[in-house]
Amino acid sequence: MHELSIAQSIVELAEEKARERQASAIEELELEIGCLAGVELQTLEFALESAVKGTMLDKARIVRHYIDGEACCGECGTRFPTSALYASCPHCGSWLINILHGKELRIKSIVIK
Ligand SMILES: [Zn+2]
Repeated sequence: MHELSIAQSIVELAEEKARERQASAIEELELEIGCLAGVELQTLEFALESAVKGTMLDKARIVRHYIDGEACCGECGTRFPTSALYASCPHCGSWLINILHGKELRIKSIVIK
């Protein structure tokens, strides 16, 4: 499952960062998850819950920031919200758009003990 491997790599990365700082546990993990990141949010939640078991993140508070999709038209420069990677500009109808936000899937911050 795609989401499970994402969850595992989030946990691995967080543990790696914590170990670099000689931490014994992670208190809080802040994640940024874009709506266009291509993950099923509920599945990711589920996968995270099982991925943290027995790790330094076992008792950590996981804070999620969901980022809405925003695109910019490559023809006329109009910025508009989008819930799909492929969308047309609401102003001029062009399909030449650039995604500005929403593809994020990363660790924003970690609080260690
Ligand atoms: Zn446009």
